[in-house]
Formats: sequence, C-alpha cells, structure tokens
Amino acid sequence: MILVLKQGTDRDSIDRLCDWLTTKYGVKTNPIIGSEATIVGLVGDTSHIAPQEIEVHEEVERIVKVQEPYKRANRKFHPDNTIIKIGNEEIGGNKIAVAAGPCAVESEEQIVELAQLVKEAGAGLLRGGAFKPRTSPYSFQGMRAEGMLYLHRASNKSGLPVVTEITNPSQIELFIDYADIIQVGARNMQNFELLKELGRVDKPILLKRGFSNSINELLMSAEYIMSEGNSRVILCERGIRTFETSTRNTLDISAIPVLKSKTHLPVIVDPSHAAGYASLVEPLAMAAIAAGADGLEIEVHQNPKLALSDGPQSLTPDVFTALMKKLSVIAKACGREI
Ligand code: PEP
Ligand code: MN
Repeated sequence: MILVLKQGTDRDSIDRLCDWLTTKYGVKTNPIIGSEATIVGLVGDTSHIAPQEIEVHEEVERIVKVQEPYKRANRKFHPDNTIIKIGNEEIGGNKIAVAAGPCAVESEEQIVELAQLVKEAGAGLLRGGAFKPRTSPYSFQGMRAEGMLYLHRASNKSGLPVVTEITNPSQIELFIDYADIIQVGARNMQNFELLKELGRVDKPILLKRGFSNSINELLMSAEYIMSEGNSRVILCERGIRTFETSTRNTLDISAIPVLKSKTHLPVIVDPSHAAGYASLVEPLAMAAIAAGADGLEIEVHQNPKLALSDGPQSLTPDVFTALMKKLSVIAKACGREI
C-alpha cells in the first residue's frame, strides 16, 4: 500500500503520520520525498488496513494498493531512479557505468596491469573474481583470500572501485574490507540466507539474475536484501537458459525495459556470460545500451587463450578499448554518456 501525500506536506507531519501507521497497524513505513510528490510506502501485512481509516488524515491525497509482492524494489514506492554512488562513479544516472576485468584474479601482476588497462580504456570499475563458483569442482576455484588482497592492491593503484563475487556468508568480513561492490552471482541469486546477511551490510550489492529465474524472482531476491535495510541493489541481466545452443546463454534484452518499468533500481548487463564468445560481446553490449541499460560488466584478459576461466568470452584490452569507443556513439545516440 502506498499513500500519496498532498504537495507541501512538511517533515513533522510525515513523521507523525508514519508513527501513527506503525503503532496502529504494525507496518514499516518508507517515506520518499521526491521532486514531484511525497509518498509513504507501507511494508508488511496491509491486508487488514481499511483505507477509510487512513483517508481521514488530511495529509493523505490518495491511497494506492500495490499488488506486486516486491515493495521496496517497486517503482511505485520510489518513482525516481535510484542512483548508487561508489567513489567517483555513479550507477543509475545518465552516465553508463562499465565494470571490466578478468573472470578470475590469477596473480597480483595480472590484476594490477589489467586494472590500469581497463581504466585507460574508460572503465570506471574493476571486476574480478577471487571466489569462483565453478560448475566442476576440478576447475580453478579462484585465489580466494589472496585474490581479494590483490584486487585491493589493484584498486588502490588504479583508483578503480572493485566489484567481486561472494559465495558464502562466512566471507562477509573479507568483503567489507576489500570490496566496493559485492556481487551475488547467478548461481546464488536465490541463496536467501546470503541475501539476508547482505541486507545488513553497508555496501552496494550487484545481484545477477539466475539463469533459470524469472524477472519477478530477481525482484524478490532484491527485496530480500532491501527488506533487511540495504537499499543499494544493482540488478544484472546476464543471459538465461533457453533451447538455443549457439550461445552460452540467451541475453534477455527485453528484461532491461521490463525491469526499468517495474523497479527504480539500476539495471546493468553482462554480455560476456550471456554470449560465451568474445566475438558476440560487442553487438550484445551495444544492444544493451540501446535498450536502456545503466551499465555493463565485461570480461577482459591480457591473454584470453591462457585464461584460467572464461577465456573464450574474454576480450583483449585492445578489443575492449575499441569497443568502448563504439559504445560511446551508441550512448550519445541514446542521450547518455559512457
Ligand atoms: C562472474 O561474473 O564471474 C560470474 C560467475 O557470472 P554469473 O554469476 O553471471 O555466471
Ligand atoms: Mn566469468
């Protein structure tokens, strides 16, 4: 349930109304003072609330029932886009954010050099996995805590904030020290205990869509994080499983405008894991920006043939640099910058 308040309602009246709602109905309130309107979202069981009891408050202009099961992530609760600031970068604003780097951290030299190269190409964030959720237990599992330290050093030297994937709540302390954005991978999108723990962390969360999950399930996973207090969630479309075998996954381009209409959270796209092949990353990245994505996450490696994971879909720094130039043209045509 959402209460749209009359224009010009002052802060004291909003607070008094919120206190009354919480005391009377046991619901949590989420007041949002926007440029156009002030709204108060009610979260919790609102089925027993009679709208007539609320309408008598003179501050209330109108009451809107929210049918969707996600509340805090819902655009109805927060009509303006959420913009998440990390260092000098913003995600969800007019500028398209680009996170680039290797699938996995492989050595200190590798990640320090790549951070510099992707920065020179125009990336604003460094990506790299230290804890790798591999399909096979015999594949490279990542450098783990050592990798986190190297990422941190690469971040310090390049000035780029780091986005890296967590796989278990026991790693949270390490991520608080060394990650700027904590990534939840596709395989953990519905690891609800992990999501709840991350809801209590003061870091932005990059939540990737599970490859067999619907858009509504992705939004419900964002809701798990937000319901614990962390409202800084970035959603990522990274391809879903379909009958098609020509690509590793099928990039769901329509998820971008659908998500943008349902939620105020930033939406980014990972064309690398969607494609599975480096040659497909460029057209998918261009399509993502044209469809309204707020950012991209792209795998880059100095020598993709020797990469310990996801080499076939990794771009060389040169190809990535050329791609960034092409993307700036698309961004401009869409009224955005990169
Ligand atoms: C990754 O970004 O390194 C990754 C493993 O991606 P996903 O969770 O989308 O497969
Ligand atoms: Mn990868």
